[in-house]
Amino acid sequence: MKYEVVIGLEVHAQMLTDTKIFCGCSTKFGSGPNTQTCPVCIGMPGVLPVFNKKALEFVIRTGLAMNCDISAYSRFARKNYFYPDLPKGYQISQYEHPICEHGHIEIVLDDKIRRIGITRIHMEEDAGKNIHEGAGNYSFVDLNRTGVPLMEIVSEPDIRSPEEASEYMKKIRAILRYLGVCDGNMEEGSLRCDANVSVRPEGQNEFGTRAEVKNINSFRFVEKALEYEIKRQIKRVENGDTIIQETRLWNSAKGVTESMRSKEEAHDYRYFPEPDLAPIIPDRAWIDEIKSSLPELPDAKRARFVSGFGLPEYDADLLTSERSLAGWFEEAVGAGGQPKAVSNWINGELSRLLNDTNQTIDACPLRPEHLADMLKLIDNGTISGKIAKTVFKEMYVSGKDAETIVKEKGLLQISDESAIEKAVDDIIANHPNEVERFRAGEEKLLGFFVGQVMKATKGKANPKILNELLKKKLT
Ligand code: ADP
Ligand code: MG
Ligand code: ZN
Repeated sequence: MKYEVVIGLEVHAQMLTDTKIFCGCSTKFGSGPNTQTCPVCIGMPGVLPVFNKKALEFVIRTGLAMNCDISAYSRFARKNYFYPDLPKGYQISQYEHPICEHGHIEIVLDDKIRRIGITRIHMEEDAGKNIHEGAGNYSFVDLNRTGVPLMEIVSEPDIRSPEEASEYMKKIRAILRYLGVCDGNMEEGSLRCDANVSVRPEGQNEFGTRAEVKNINSFRFVEKALEYEIKRQIKRVENGDTIIQETRLWNSAKGVTESMRSKEEAHDYRYFPEPDLAPIIPDRAWIDEIKSSLPELPDAKRARFVSGFGLPEYDADLLTSERSLAGWFEEAVGAGGQPKAVSNWINGELSRLLNDTNQTIDACPLRPEHLADMLKLIDNGTISGKIAKTVFKEMYVSGKDAETIVKEKGLLQISDESAIEKAVDDIIANHPNEVERFRAGEEKLLGFFVGQVMKATKGKANPKILNELLKKKLT
């Protein structure tokens, strides 16, 4: 029996506002415990929340970017539960009237575009943090995070594999970062994800019973947690066991999901409209203004890179994952680089170097025009493709341009036929056995001779001339 996987994600994104959602406290990360609190965010009796308009602007920006309808009427609601990191005993969230609904985004897999529906995006306040470490049998509560504005982005159950889920998360992150509304840092918790997953026999219309997996804090874990959970569910179904609707926790140390609570134990949040905050009726003109201020978004940029530069979807998708990376690419092309060649160097050597040196593209020491210049040197035969890798790395380390490096290091390609001929003659004279075998029909030995000459010329021999010479002399 074949099974189809159904996944829907609930993504929480911390907004990059300077202050909290219902008070003026700072949202800065990493300050001393409880130094960024006030009577409002620690939930003193009698205080009143005041809504931060910047948070509304950010969520409307996000909704528009994700093709949502912006609600003409939206409300906050109280979600009631007890936990030490929630001083009021309820979280201000949205329930019946979210600010954004009916959107979608696109992901690219195997060069194909898939559309994933966005059910809703709503606003809420973050909770504090319980800290269970340090001396003695104590737990500590830090309320600095209490009241930091969050958006919850809920997808339709449109995702069909762990890989798609991870691509979806990456696209959400890319859009949020393009918009400047969230820094997308999963390790620090500013972007978090709960994954709902179920399986059903292929061809069946109704969805299977789902489990919700919490505590996923990296892209790698999105895939790993889902892969584990899918295997677990299929195994149960095959054994004739039922799937229980429950919340499970991803345990990254063990690589498994573990039951946290079943539907019966689920909280009844007793949602009701928040009486201390007026309904939100956003001004249409303001929404239009926000719309016209949106930057070119990843999907539009990707489409333009495909049609304008003739790039494959895959390349365009990678290049547009970060606004600054896309900008770097366009600068290199603007400086005369052939688009596909530029893309190959960015997605190959450059990503590798950035990764190895733990750098982001914003702090990249290598200038886009230097890559374009280097590509010209390859095209006009000044350097070989092999030497170009050395030049590229040197440009990255030193920030110097390609021509200077080629001169300083003596990396010019040898295109002088007589110089290459000399090296070829030497190699042939020194390897009579291989020559004999080649002449007896072992043609793959040509690679051996190319390698030997390249070694002798430190990789600088013009490969085209070298190949012609070798063929002429060996046959
Ligand atoms: P809750 O708020 O209780 O978690 P929602 O109805 O808001 O429930 O759904 C949460 C998420 O679960 C959504 O992203 C939705 O797409 C997804 N979902 C709903 N049903 C299924 C299912 N059968 N299998 C997988 N995901 C599902
Ligand atoms: Mg949920
Ligand atoms: Zn406060």
